[in-house]
Amino acid sequence: MRNEQRRYIITSARKKRCIFCGEPPNAKNKEHVIPKWLISLTGNLKRQWHLGVETSHPDRKPRRFTADQFQFPACTSCNERYSALEGRTKGYLERLLGGYNLTAAEWDDLLDWFDKVRIGLWLGHMMLNKDWPAPPPNFYIDQRIGTKDRCVLIYPNRHNSKGLVMSGASDPVFMHKPSSFVLSINGLIFMNIPTELLLSKRMGFPYPKQLRYEDDRVYVEDYAVDAKPNIPFLDFPFHPPQLGVYQSILLESAMADADYEALTDLDFTAAKIIPSQRIKTQICTFGLGEEKFHEPGETVEKSDLAKNGILSPPEYVSQLFRYRQKDLDDAMKFFPDRVKFLMHLKKYNQDGIEKAQHL
Ligand SMILES: [Zn+2]
Repeated sequence: MRNEQRRYIITSARKKRCIFCGEPPNAKNKEHVIPKWLISLTGNLKRQWHLGVETSHPDRKPRRFTADQFQFPACTSCNERYSALEGRTKGYLERLLGGYNLTAAEWDDLLDWFDKVRIGLWLGHMMLNKDWPAPPPNFYIDQRIGTKDRCVLIYPNRHNSKGLVMSGASDPVFMHKPSSFVLSINGLIFMNIPTELLLSKRMGFPYPKQLRYEDDRVYVEDYAVDAKPNIPFLDFPFHPPQLGVYQSILLESAMADADYEALTDLDFTAAKIIPSQRIKTQICTFGLGEEKFHEPGETVEKSDLAKNGILSPPEYVSQLFRYRQKDLDDAMKFFPDRVKFLMHLKKYNQDGIEKAQHL
């Protein structure tokens, strides 16, 4: 019985699935997880990328890819559904790289794109590392766009930088929990941190007072709301960014809970739900003063925090791995029966901290 189960899991993991919807793709189409326009914007389409290591290879040799060949199965229709988002994102990034600002609605859209890329990278690396002892994916891109609290911290890259660097998007910690990575695009560094319940409490939105872990699942219960933002929103001393964009997403799964729904109806939260959206709240930023929630059409200005000085790019990447170290420590308190596995991940992550210092 156990063997049969095991065989089933391996087969289902190997079956070709569309990275957007998770179904067998309806045509032999492929999606560039890192879109071609972005590869072109940052260098030669045919350049070689080093993407993690071949986990099945005894020497764990680095995996090399021609940039425009880093693609995975997708339905034609799913691919087309996202092509408009790609077109808009190209414009957003060109403007940001040119020193211009975006509106809150454009940031909301761009954060969706970061969700798309992040989950695409995760699924892609799961497909490449079939021998890695991870369960088959239980979600795909469609299920993870705009469904969790998210933020992006933007830092300046080295002067005149050209290139695309993905940091922390192919290692075992990311495979275990794909909820933070860094994307350096020419002159800007984007630290992307999307995690359920990451921001809700400190941004003043309903949050569960209790998290219960049982039978390998996390249950949320007993909701509360402070209805008052409390900056900084992240419980980690990230270096102040040029711009930090924060967005809390209400818990879709809790909307059916009368207590939770009642809290979302209270003035503070209700006023910040984006019109025509059910669970997305307004984009928020903060500088040295107060936080500011933005109406969709409002321009989101850079903050005054960057005056605190800029670090070298490897230091930002190193902060990502330090943040993960803390996240793994927190997880150990919550999942005592997983301590051994989490310790193992911490060891990999420590490597990331050390490598970041030599970037
Ligand atoms: Zn599909």
